[in-house]
Amino acid sequence: MHARILTIGLSAVCLAAGAVSGRAATNEAPPSTLVELATAFEFAAPVREEDRIVLRKTGRVLAFDVDTRRLLCDDVLVWLSRPVVRHRGDWRLDGADFEHVVRPLLDPRSLAGAPGGRTVVLDPGHGGNDPGAVSPGGLEEKTIVLELAERVKALLEKAGLTVKLTRERDDYLALKERVRRAGEWKADVLVSIHLNSHRDRRARGLETFVLPPAGCPVTGASTLDARDKAVCPGNTHDAANASLGFFLQRGLVQATGGEDRGLKRARYFLLREAPCPAAVTECKFLSNHKAEEELKKDEHLAQIAKGLSDGIRAYVDIVGKAKEAAARKPDHSDSSGNASSY
Ligand SMILES: [Zn+2]
Repeated sequence: MHARILTIGLSAVCLAAGAVSGRAATNEAPPSTLVELATAFEFAAPVREEDRIVLRKTGRVLAFDVDTRRLLCDDVLVWLSRPVVRHRGDWRLDGADFEHVVRPLLDPRSLAGAPGGRTVVLDPGHGGNDPGAVSPGGLEEKTIVLELAERVKALLEKAGLTVKLTRERDDYLALKERVRRAGEWKADVLVSIHLNSHRDRRARGLETFVLPPAGCPVTGASTLDARDKAVCPGNTHDAANASLGFFLQRGLVQATGGEDRGLKRARYFLLREAPCPAAVTECKFLSNHKAEEELKKDEHLAQIAKGLSDGIRAYVDIVGKAKEAAARKPDHSDSSGNASSY
């Protein structure tokens, strides 16, 4: 099938020609349209392809699905807070989505304030009298996620990171205690590992959750309630949360080949109260028969563990690069160059 390609307005070409590297990271107004975004981050002018608006440059692709909250960033699905909407021949991007989703994925310097240490706390979900999800054949989530956490720990330690597990046995652990331990251990990254479940046994795939910025809805809702407006401790790390979640989701999808359900937003307790950048990963649906069989296999557990490890390592690396870039003079920094290491 031939994609229908339309250039988004004449102004796109004119504006893109005057692109200034990393402009959005300076004191100038942030881009509010996709043409401005393309200009600021040196993408070619946006083009329409079927139901998508696509921005491309070497090594990077952003594809916004029209009238939905779906953004494909380098082929990884990222859910926005609000859809891009038509605006005078261009497309308007929600300001919070730019600041807390798109910018952290395009400009490593927005991560310069994230904790830069190398202590990773892994949180295997559930435990003890809380089995979590249970497969049709009786496999329990609490057992598999502990096995996964131990495998990820081994991989990360091999890469030189310090890793702690919130639980190392089949113990019940309150959410509050999991967060407290992450704080006590001065975690730089907190990743909670879970398996999904759904009444519809056909449900499948991988998803990762991070906290929405204050004033933004969770992925399953389009309107705000009182909780959505509150600023939580976890909002200290909005940019880093988005980056960590993106790399985890990318790592999981690439390592397993599983269906990409996307980087989503939820106000889970652990994400609200996290003392550092944090994410909750849902690695497969334990309620799905095929996934249940896969989760019994050593090589598949190894793939998931590799995906989680790859994601955490990519995040730690980019934060390190962000701090290096921030230490240089702003005039000499180059967001497009650093961004290629995503
Ligand atoms: Zn769970």
